[in-house]
Amino acid sequence: MKKFDVIVVGAGTGGCIAAKTVADAGFKVCLIDRKKREEVGDKVCGDAIGKHHFDNLELDYPVEDELEREMVGIKIYSPDMETVFSVEGEDLYGFMVNRHLFGQRLLKIATDAGADFMESTQALRPTIENRFLTGVSAKNLKTGREINLHGQVVVDASGLSSVLRSRLPPELEIDTAINKEDIIVCFREIRRLKEQISDTSFCEIYLNLQFAPGGYSWVFPESETKVNVGLGVVTSRSSPNPKKQLYNCILTKKLFKGSSIVRGGGGQVPTRRPLNCMTGNGIAIIGDAACQVNPIHGGGMGPSMMGGAIAGKTIVEAISNDDVSRSGLWQYNVGYMQSYGAKQAGLDVFRLFLQGLSNDDLDYGMKYHMITEKDLLKASMGEDIHLSVTEKTIRVFRGVKRLGFVKRLRDTASLIKRMRKHYRSYPSSPEGFGKWKNEMRNLVREAVKMRVAS
Ligand SMILES: Cc1cc2nc3c(=O)[nH]c(=O)nc-3n(C[C@H](O)[C@H](O)[C@H](O)COP(=O)(O)OP(=O)(O)OC[C@H]3O[C@@H](n4cnc5c(N)ncnc54)[C@H](O)[C@@H]3O)c2cc1C
Repeated sequence: MKKFDVIVVGAGTGGCIAAKTVADAGFKVCLIDRKKREEVGDKVCGDAIGKHHFDNLELDYPVEDELEREMVGIKIYSPDMETVFSVEGEDLYGFMVNRHLFGQRLLKIATDAGADFMESTQALRPTIENRFLTGVSAKNLKTGREINLHGQVVVDASGLSSVLRSRLPPELEIDTAINKEDIIVCFREIRRLKEQISDTSFCEIYLNLQFAPGGYSWVFPESETKVNVGLGVVTSRSSPNPKKQLYNCILTKKLFKGSSIVRGGGGQVPTRRPLNCMTGNGIAIIGDAACQVNPIHGGGMGPSMMGGAIAGKTIVEAISNDDVSRSGLWQYNVGYMQSYGAKQAGLDVFRLFLQGLSNDDLDYGMKYHMITEKDLLKASMGEDIHLSVTEKTIRVFRGVKRLGFVKRLRDTASLIKRMRKHYRSYPSSPEGFGKWKNEMRNLVREAVKMRVAS
């Protein structure tokens, strides 16, 4: 049995920042990953991340080989391709990173801070004693030997596989399953182009609910002749295969004529509000394992690092106070909900609204500026969006027989506000959680009902 203060399972973006934060405070941290050291960070991703995440975490910006390209904004195309929103500004300024090298840098930051890294080590199950997580059983993938790691707190940062969260007993009161309708399944390729892209400063998003039901497709330039291109669809039995859709609907564009694959692969991302509760006795859950992803565009690198930093600080306090119970770790829930969770929950309502639209609705909404560039910019930042439905727009839309759409938009805007307010009043201790959760469920039910009705 190996003993540490904290075990972090998963050396992704979230896990590395959590490990660094705890190690910085002088605690003994063990960071494990099933990948080999040199493979850490090599993940199927869109590779785009906002500059503000680096500012918030005081991380150096990517440079040299880690930086593929700087981006100034996003272009969003309506399904009929007639309307293009060009969204730019300081808030959307960001980087296309070399995901592998970025992940390697984060791992180095964690180990430089003092975290012990165990490569090729797969967590199998949590160790639970007297209703507390006290460690992890893991397997050394090189020798096949099983090992037991002991820690006062265990962090599940294992991504969507959520190896620990999914095996927690009900008495820890943490949701163990995620609805498949809240997961987007994607296929992505890095492609070398034959022809040059004239403007590489914008990432491009194509909305089309026939091509990409519940999701979207993207073309993110990495250089004049290299792009990250992918397509995601909501996970359901009737959804098409994202690889087939990418090949049939996107790679047929003129831009890809004569292009070749550098590499490709699939992946999944949870696009919903964060888990209701991300702590239990001796456990904190971060990143994709806690559904900390922007529900609109699926960006999760930044939120996972934010989750890692907030969880790390709370864990340091909890160990220092000699209270690693659910209650001692509770402040992590409060801190995350107030900094990003409330925004995420509001955007989840907007996501459900968008997923319930038809291509026709989207074409109209964009063409008549019912949904504006500003709304989408704010949505991408997780900020309050004011879907303004004035009497004037109602008159215009009555003219084009779209009043149902206008009404849904107005109801959605109001529900987004209520949802955000509810998350901002997240209980300061576990005592108020039951009541808060019931009200939250009612709000989610309302959002789902509105989508079904559309
Ligand atoms: C196709 C696609 C495109 C995306 N595009 C973007 C984008 O452009 N921008 C953006 O910000 N986000 C994007 N995302 C989302 C982003 O990749 C994730 O939200 C983010 O990586 C989550 O970080 P994490 O630390 O929670 O998990 P991960 O980065 O997934 O890390 C989890 C780690 O846990 C390890 N692990 C898993 N199981 C075990 C186990 N049993 N034992 C030990 N280790 C284990 C894994 O090997 C991995 O290293 C995209 C996702 C996909 C699928």
